[in-house]
Amino acid sequence: KRVILVGPPGSGKGTQSPIIKDEYCLCHLATGDMLRAAVAAKTPLGIKAKEAMDKGQLVSDDLVVGIIDEAMKKPSCQKGFILDGFPRTVAQAEKLDEMLQKQGTKIDKVLNFAIDDSLLEERITGRWVHPSSGRTYHTKYEPPKVPGLDDVTGEPLIQRKDDTAEVLKSRLQAFHRQTEPVVDYYVKKGVVANVHAEKPPKEVTTEVQKTCS
Ligand code: ADP
Ligand code: ADP
Ligand code: ADP
Repeated sequence: KRVILVGPPGSGKGTQSPIIKDEYCLCHLATGDMLRAAVAAKTPLGIKAKEAMDKGQLVSDDLVVGIIDEAMKKPSCQKGFILDGFPRTVAQAEKLDEMLQKQGTKIDKVLNFAIDDSLLEERITGRWVHPSSGRTYHTKYEPPKVPGLDDVTGEPLIQRKDDTAEVLKSRLQAFHRQTEPVVDYYVKKGVVANVHAEKPPKEVTTEVQKTCS
């Protein structure tokens, strides 16, 4: 299975990914996680990406297409993958199609995490993440067993630098202008399934499982 998750920041893509990954797919490719790791490691890619990310704007198509192209070549990604946070522009979607066509494959499903903007500020400002695993918590909705610490490793959780009400505004603007057209692009191909992303996490999981199987 080759699945894409689309939705605004805070809609729950990262929360649902591990579940789909374990059930159906072999690899989870989240461009945001890859970019943050590059920023933290101060690689040339990270240095180029940091400014746009801090402002809540999209990183250039060439940079993200490059990292996805590289990541999809991994042996573990040959049988299927979940793309989380990519493609975010129609140009990225077209590039992805080209890459898949060369391999004789295509996207099976696009899950559209639909949720009202008004719910996202609370989700984003309450988000705590375990950087090395990508596990996500929420102070109110998914609290860790010990505040500030990852349940599995006991390591510290962090708040992302761009998870502020202020930067969220730019990220939402980018989402509506640049990423919503991506959903239309895939609607035309007949592969979109809508997910009621405002529901509690377990209910969202049930919906995701239904649309994926
Ligand atoms: P969220 O999960 O909250 O929507 P991400 O972690 O996916 O956010 O992305 C964080 C930031 O990384 C984005 O605001 C953007 O700057 C950059 N980014 C991630 N994926 C892409 C992409 N496909 N194209 C351009 N920029 C991206
Ligand atoms: P995305 O990857 O789409 O940006 P996340 O999965 O990181 O979103 O979720 C954003 C925040 O909201 C996290 O703190 C997460 O714990 C919480 N969250 C995720 N799904 C739900 C849900 N269905 N109901 C309430 N809170 C949720
Ligand atoms: P700055 O350069 O502004 O001091 P950092 O380079 O330390 O910031 O990190 C930038 C942002 O990315 C911070 O919000 C930090 O919490 C987050 N971050 C750092 N390392 C990672 C990682 N490996 N995965 C996810 N997020 C990370």
